[in-house]
Amino acid sequence: MFWRSIKTDLISVQKFIFVWILLVSTSLFLNFSITKEQTAELATDRAETIFSLIKLIRQWSAQHGGVYVPITENTPPNPHLNLDHRDIITRDGKKLTLLNPAYMTRQLAELASQEDIGVRFHLTSLNPIRPKNAADEWETRALRGFEQKETKYVAEMVEDHDGIFFRYMAPLYVQNACLNCHEQQGYRLGDLRGGISVSLPARTFQNLEFDRLHPLIAMHLIILLIGVTFLLYFERYNRSKNDAELAYIDALTGINNRRSFEKQLRVEWSRAKRRKEPLSIIMIDIDYFKNYNDTHGHQMGDQCLADVANITNNVLKRPGDLLARYGGEEFIAILSTDSEGALGIGNQMQQAVEAAMIENLGSPVSKSLTISVGVATDYPSKELYPDELVARADKALYQAKKGGRNRVVYLSS
Ligand code: GH3
Ligand code: MG
Ligand code: MG
Repeated sequence: MFWRSIKTDLISVQKFIFVWILLVSTSLFLNFSITKEQTAELATDRAETIFSLIKLIRQWSAQHGGVYVPITENTPPNPHLNLDHRDIITRDGKKLTLLNPAYMTRQLAELASQEDIGVRFHLTSLNPIRPKNAADEWETRALRGFEQKETKYVAEMVEDHDGIFFRYMAPLYVQNACLNCHEQQGYRLGDLRGGISVSLPARTFQNLEFDRLHPLIAMHLIILLIGVTFLLYFERYNRSKNDAELAYIDALTGINNRRSFEKQLRVEWSRAKRRKEPLSIIMIDIDYFKNYNDTHGHQMGDQCLADVANITNNVLKRPGDLLARYGGEEFIAILSTDSEGALGIGNQMQQAVEAAMIENLGSPVSKSLTISVGVATDYPSKELYPDELVARADKALYQAKKGGRNRVVYLSS
C-alpha cells in the first residue's frame, strides 16, 4: 500500500512534467512560427516599399515621356529606342539622348549594385526589347504566375551562387505612357508588361530573427525549468507529508496506530484538564480471535480485523474522538465525554460488531464474531496520569472477558 502510493505519486508527477514540457514546447513552437512569419512580413514590406518607389520614379519618367541626359560613355543612346527625337543637340552644341523609364531603371539598378546599398533590383519581362533584360529562372516562374493571374506578388528566400537572398517580385502592367515605346510590340493598355524583382540579403533578416529567437528560447527554457523544479519540489513535499501521515496510520486496518493514539491522548488529556472536562477510554478486544484465525485462516483474520476497525470507527461521530489499533486484535478509543456517553458508545460498538454477523465458527460464545469492551472515565488532574486511565479501561476489559465476553464493563475509579 505504501510503495504503491509512492509509485502512483511518481507516475502522476511524471505525467505533469510531460504535460508541462508539451505546453512549453507548443508555446515555443507557436512563438517560433509567429517570429518567422513576422520576419517574412517585414522583409516583404521592405521589398514592396522599394518596388513601389522604383515604380513611382518610372511613372514620373513616363509622364514626361522620358528625360534627356547628356550622352556619355556610360550613357550611350538607347539602340532599342526607335524614336526620331531620341537624340538631340542643344543650341550650345551639347548632345543629349532620351532616357526612357526602362533605360533609367536599368541605370538605377546598376548604380544600386555598384554602391552596395544592400538592395538589388532587376527590370525584366518574358518578352524583353533588350535581350539582356531577360528574366532568370526564378523571375520567369514568377512572371508566368502573374500571367496566369495566380499571385499579386512572389516573395521567398532563394539561394543562388551569391548566397541566400530574400527575393520579391511584382508585376508591371501597361499604362498609357508605356505605349509610346511598347505599342510597336503589340501591347495594349492593362497588359502584363513584365515585372521588377527586388533582392535583399537574407543575412539582415536572419540576424533580426536570431535576435528575437534568442531571448524567446532562453525565456521558455527558464519557464520550463521553473515549472519542472516546482513540480519536483511539490512531489517531494507531498511524499514527505505522506510519509509523516503514514507514520501514524496502521497499515492493515487504515485507522490510527498506537503512536497516533499516544500523541492524541496527550493532547486530549491536557485539553480536558484545562477545561475541567471528563475524558473516557474504551478498550476493545475481539473474542476468541485465535480460534477465528485457526478456523478461517490468517488472511481472513486480517480482513476481519479491518472490518471490526471499520465497524467500531463508524460509531464515533465527534471530530475529537479517535479509534486506534492498540496491538494485535485490540483497539482503543479516546472520547471527550463522560461515563454515560462512553458507556453508550461502548455498547453501540459491541452491538454493531454483533449485528455485522461475521461468522466465527470457532467461538464458544456465539456463532458470529463478538468483542469485549472495557470503559473508564475520569477528570484529568495533576494527581492522575493518562496511563492510569488506560490501565483502568484494560482492567474493565479483563472483567468483561472474565464475565463471559461479548459485553461492556465500566469501571469507576
Ligand atoms: P480472547 O477472547 O481471550 O481475547 O481470545 P483470543 O483468541 O482473541 O486472544 P489471544 O490473545 O489468545 O489471541 C489473539 C490472536 O490474535 C492471536 C493472534 O494470532 C491474533 N492476531 C493478532 N494480530 C493479528 C493480525 O494482525 N492478523 C491476524 N490475522 N491475527 C492476529
Ligand atoms: Mg487480546
Ligand atoms: Mg482477543
